Amino acid sequence: MTYALEVEGLDKSFGAAAVLRDVALTVEAGSTTAILGPSGCGKTTLLRLVAGFDKPDAGTIALGGRVVAGGGWTPAHRRSVGYVAQDGALFPHATVGANVGFGLPRRARTRSKIAELLEMVSLDSVYATRRPDQLSGGQQQRVALARALAREPELMLLDEPFSALDAGLRANTRRIVADVLAKAGITTILVTHDQPEALSFADRVAVMSSGRLAQIGTPREIYSAPIDVPTAEFIGDAVVLGAHVESGRARCALGNIAVTANGVRGDARVMLRPEQIEVTSDGAGVSGTVVDVEYLGSEMLLGIRLDTPDGVLPERVTVRRFGATPLAPGDRVGIRVLGEAVAYEP
Ligand code: ATP
Repeated sequence: MTYALEVEGLDKSFGAAAVLRDVALTVEAGSTTAILGPSGCGKTTLLRLVAGFDKPDAGTIALGGRVVAGGGWTPAHRRSVGYVAQDGALFPHATVGANVGFGLPRRARTRSKIAELLEMVSLDSVYATRRPDQLSGGQQQRVALARALAREPELMLLDEPFSALDAGLRANTRRIVADVLAKAGITTILVTHDQPEALSFADRVAVMSSGRLAQIGTPREIYSAPIDVPTAEFIGDAVVLGAHVESGRARCALGNIAVTANGVRGDARVMLRPEQIEVTSDGAGVSGTVVDVEYLGSEMLLGIRLDTPDGVLPERVTVRRFGATPLAPGDRVGIRVLGEAVAYEP
């Protein structure tokens, strides 16, 4: 199979600091991949190598089956790759039209072509004569995307393009951008440190940690079966408890609960998402006391201290609760587990 992007054994250091270590990644044509990781883990460095702005120390990069780095070198302008940076990087003194036109071959730089590209990103052609500073942040990012689309790239690289936008604008701009790229059938890689953004935007998520790819999978796999506890905690809220695992069941402070079969047995830790823990209406299940309540509008996060036999340290679990009767610190509750927990080595 020919992949839109195939990266193998990629290493990159700056001075003594190893920033990427043995990174391997394949991306199918037409798909959307998010590279998710904390600040400084090497996401931008990886994207810059794919774009051709930097050379790797070791390893190969192939675009559409053609090697462009390692055993050959194709400069950035000869790769069919678009790049949208965090701040859009528009030319501040040029009009929106000139910015978009910059991505086009000279002959194709017509008013109607520019209007067509602006329309693709849901911007009216009246904006063509404005300067970037006369546009909102979300509009500027869409101009940056239009400029990148003008080159008709096979691969689009988005480096935290929404991170400077406020929450509402961010979700809206993200939807427009996802829609444009899907319609155009362009293979897309999005770099982000925002978990919901990665899970909602991409078909596949690659979790990056200290210069390595820790796990690659669908958003559902990444969320429900993280490779290890740090990844679980990075992707979302996690309840982690000591446990003993045998034949598909775990004994832990939440009782005898089901675990996903993954080969882990004996002394272990189990991980659940807060929405897998439910407060029962009749007080049935494991009992405990509400110790804190975080009200978030559509949902509440409850901290519950579980009752344990004398001499056993009490465990505290977090429970996500939607629109139900409010609970307050001190309330006694019963809780039960929904679905399966994931077990890890202790
Ligand atoms: P962020 O989300 O904050 O942008 P990132 O995951 O994209 O982070 P990178 O920008 O790839 O991380 O940087 C990874 C590490 O490499 C950082 O420690 C950074 O300081 C270092 N680094 C990046 N570029 C250079 C450079 N040109 N020279 C020296 N060090 C660099």
